[in-house]
Amino acid sequence: MSSYLTKHGARVAERGMWMAEHPSIDRFWTKVDRHDGCWLWTAGRFISGRPCFWVDGRNVQAHRWILKRLKGPLGDLLACHTCDNILCVNPDHLYGGTTYDNARDRIERGDNRNMRPPPVVLGEDNAWSKLTADMVRLIRAEVCLGTTRGELVNRLGIKKSTFQDVLSRRTWGHVA
Ligand SMILES: [Zn+2]
Repeated sequence: MSSYLTKHGARVAERGMWMAEHPSIDRFWTKVDRHDGCWLWTAGRFISGRPCFWVDGRNVQAHRWILKRLKGPLGDLLACHTCDNILCVNPDHLYGGTTYDNARDRIERGDNRNMRPPPVVLGEDNAWSKLTADMVRLIRAEVCLGTTRGELVNRLGIKKSTFQDVLSRRTWGHVA
């Protein structure tokens, strides 16, 4: 390194070269323990436990970032795991799923340790008629996943009696 560079300047130059040689996707893989099966994220995590990747000037969910990078935009879809390993970033174990897919997959795997579907927000006018078959499935799924009834009633803004009817299948009994 040229003698006129300060120590700090040298470090910055070195880092700049390193960054140029390691575009984001290469830098991503340096943080992953790749072996058979799940590929585990070894760098930072969010408080939620999800893998955290610093890229383009912000922290993003690592598994979501790599899924988008390799398979295209996710839109409103969640980055879901088929393996249910919250730290896994193996693209073969990731897919874009709806909240209901996510809940259903987790129930089928019999596991509710990690991620729950995000809140479903209904509008002001959340009358009974606004519930859809998918909503009913989600309500039942959330209860299976351990979300408390009080929490769901508050979140969805539905009456307790409505909620009980859905759960007991007095209404919406035709929905699987
Ligand atoms: Zn995995």
